Amino acid sequence: MTDQKWFEDMEARIPHGEVRTRFAPSPTGYMHVGNLRTALYTYLIAKKAGGKFILRIEDTDQGRLVAGAADVIYKTLRDCRLTHDEGPDIGGPAGPYIQTERREIYGKYAELLLEKGGAYRCFCQKTEEPEGENFDKTDDPCRDLSKAESDARAASGESFVIRQRIPHEGTTTFHDEIFYDITVPNDTLDDNVLMKSDGLPTYNFANVIDDHLMGITHVVRGSEYLASSPKYNLLYEAFGWDIPKYVHCSPVMRDKQNKMSKRHGDPSYEDLLAQGYLNDAVLNYVALLGWSPGGEREIYALPELVEAFDISGISKSPAIFDIEKLTYFNAEYIKAMEPEAFIKVAEPYIRESVKNSAIDIALFAPILQPRTEKLTDIPEKIDFFDALPDYDTTLFTNKKSKTDAAVSLDMLQKTLPALEDIAAWTEEAIHDTLISLAETLGVKNATLMWPLRIAVAGKLVTPGGAVEICHILGKDETLRRMRIGIEKLS
Ligand code: GLU
Repeated sequence: MTDQKWFEDMEARIPHGEVRTRFAPSPTGYMHVGNLRTALYTYLIAKKAGGKFILRIEDTDQGRLVAGAADVIYKTLRDCRLTHDEGPDIGGPAGPYIQTERREIYGKYAELLLEKGGAYRCFCQKTEEPEGENFDKTDDPCRDLSKAESDARAASGESFVIRQRIPHEGTTTFHDEIFYDITVPNDTLDDNVLMKSDGLPTYNFANVIDDHLMGITHVVRGSEYLASSPKYNLLYEAFGWDIPKYVHCSPVMRDKQNKMSKRHGDPSYEDLLAQGYLNDAVLNYVALLGWSPGGEREIYALPELVEAFDISGISKSPAIFDIEKLTYFNAEYIKAMEPEAFIKVAEPYIRESVKNSAIDIALFAPILQPRTEKLTDIPEKIDFFDALPDYDTTLFTNKKSKTDAAVSLDMLQKTLPALEDIAAWTEEAIHDTLISLAETLGVKNATLMWPLRIAVAGKLVTPGGAVEICHILGKDETLRRMRIGIEKLS
């Protein structure tokens, strides 16, 4: 017998009167770019409406559990500031928010559905899988077992699954906010397994029960669930529940034909961070993968996304992930950072190359920020600060600066005493000294600066010019490197 009071209590707990969305990841151990985008859209829809964003962990697939995987989800949401209002780690009125802790709930609702005739016990054991390959509902003998017989076999301890009873005739229509009305003939729908013989629900059952009991108003998820949604509607109808709004998002693709997939080497969110992308840049880029604010603007901070977001801007067509576009976003975000914030995130990369603790790493912000696309580019850019590379003197020859070996030697010899005379080693002092020296000598600034930069860096391409590099190196090291240059050229 089902417990009337228990159901009344459950229903009474359902929050009402606000927009409620949920992000419902399975704990796989990493965050797909597509999943991150789903989380973001789910968050934006809730926050735009002043509603609640709920985190639910879908861990009923026991075969696929990965240790520590839930932490990856918490960390990603925290990093990206997609702050959930309810979830396993913080609780809430509609918990528990982890599916394996909701066993009893699914069990009771499955019994209720059996009573209502929307499901039946299947003892065939043909398959445990939700999408049973060989399963043909038209010849499942269990579908028509009498209640008495089904109850008796269950009571005797015989193992069974619970399947959804889909009508053989008619059609089911459902509405999606992106894909509009979709109608499917019922005879194309399988009698899916709702409850497995281990007493855990399949996704097909749990998503409906949870979305209902958690008061979810907008179900935002990948379009791979589009085809199953008519079945979910039949479940809502069998229970007599309101159907939420559906927002199915098209996949994020690697190219025209293929979805992004970690198995095929496409980066996950964590991979992108490890490749030197900033979470803010990733989030901004991901927002535009399949949603358009209309207009030219591309750079949006999270609160601006909340402001601008609208479901009507979500595209039906799949979006193609373009790493170069993301790199452009990343460079823009790096440029726009406060120097202190930049140094904080860049420090480990700077320290990879610059181990000399006498160097003030804060000085790297102005030379690196305008020239860094990814944080991982940093170590190679500043690899000459700790030790002068063994360079070739051909580097001193440059057409535009009008320098060759002889001119460079002359310039370095004249610059050395001028720099030696500087008392306070500031960027301004170095700059002013060099500019006035060039003037006195009647040469282009570049004619003076080129040899100096080559002498202190020992490489052709450097972030920042001679002045900044000399300043960061400090007076003694600058003069030492200049003397080496003079020696090489002499
Ligand atoms: N656990 C499902 C997944 O990760 C969630 C689908 C949904 O949001 O309903 O794909």
